[in-house]
Amino acid sequence: TLALDVEEIRAEFPILSRLLHDGKPLIYLDNAATTQTPTPVLEAYSDYFNRYNANIHRGLHSLADEATAAFERARDTVREFLNAERVEEIVFTRGTTEAINLVANTWGRANLRAGDRVVISEMEHHSNIVPWQMLSTELGFTLSVIPVDARGVLDLDAARSLIDERTRLVAVNHVSNALGTINPVSELAALAHAQGALILVDGAQAVAHARVDVQALGADFYAFSGHKIYGPTGIGALYGRLELLEAMPPWQGGGEMISKVTLTEGTTFAAPPHKFEAGTPAIGEAIALDRAIRWLTNLHFELVTEWEQTLLSHTTQRLESIDGLSLIGTAPNKCGVISFVVEGAHSQDIGLLIDQFGVAIRTGHHCAQPLMQKFGLDATCRASFGVYNTLEEADQFVDALGRVIKMLR
Ligand code: PMP
Repeated sequence: TLALDVEEIRAEFPILSRLLHDGKPLIYLDNAATTQTPTPVLEAYSDYFNRYNANIHRGLHSLADEATAAFERARDTVREFLNAERVEEIVFTRGTTEAINLVANTWGRANLRAGDRVVISEMEHHSNIVPWQMLSTELGFTLSVIPVDARGVLDLDAARSLIDERTRLVAVNHVSNALGTINPVSELAALAHAQGALILVDGAQAVAHARVDVQALGADFYAFSGHKIYGPTGIGALYGRLELLEAMPPWQGGGEMISKVTLTEGTTFAAPPHKFEAGTPAIGEAIALDRAIRWLTNLHFELVTEWEQTLLSHTTQRLESIDGLSLIGTAPNKCGVISFVVEGAHSQDIGLLIDQFGVAIRTGHHCAQPLMQKFGLDATCRASFGVYNTLEEADQFVDALGRVIKMLR
């Protein structure tokens, strides 16, 4: 039977052999914030700078040709990865945040007006709340929120009544970065489409953990970030159905996004995706993202998903036996994200002290303040897994947590 060789995978991440604080091995459990980068991805990045660094699309020399070809190959890798039909449907952005802001400022500005409704959820990251709030203040549409229940599961009955004939867009995350909940995106897509509305999916926490198929999900827009999928920062992508991208006005203006510019008769714009890619993009980063996606998919995605589920259930079970610890987010369908609070110990203190054991977890509101409010909290501790984490690390984390809690009580 096929199995992941986690030790072999770890060997590709030099950072995972780092020792902290008097020789304690790093236990990196902050993968929901950013993942580490394997050697082949770093090599693809430096290879670009060492061999064919050039600006793309306009040059006629060899390096420009090679860089352009590699950049456009990266677009096709993203297309295949998301199972989009056409390469024109993939727009490179700086990340998820920029992808959502792009949709808000182009599709949103062109299509939303007073009387319309945009539906988000209570478990959104700020990057899928604030752009819609800013736009609703300006355009006067209603922003409505699907609530979550005590387990951190979306209330689908509420969704059914909120997604009505006034609704133009449903914007939700695929997986919650604060709770790990996997949301029923295809059901929400069906509800949206039944009302003639679109669905935008924030896939930042999904793409590294389970195979995503934008067509099967029924997503109209799908956004993700390279740095959460073993690639670099500064690059991400927006998938948009071609007919939507074609009808959308551009956002930023500049080079690379035009067809013809005149000073007296105005400017005509390039076709998608270039219409939305003004200026020189992050070329080396896109090439490295291509490598990261191929690196991850070559591991066999089912095995990655399965391994992270093993880490999740093992760690959850062990945490449940800690006195006074409450898990925040107990949905039946979860990715490898575990949020928790501990009676008599502040999350911030836990985060600081457990770092002394070499353990990197995140504490705070996880850019999901409305969700924290729902649970009556300011902050949680969050451990989140990547494909390179081991059961030994999970145990060392739980043991260290036990000692930290003793110190704090
Ligand atoms: N959405 C979710 C669910 C996230 O977890 C994050 C990153 N924490 C973002 C959006 C924003 O991603 P980025 O900062 O890479 O734009």
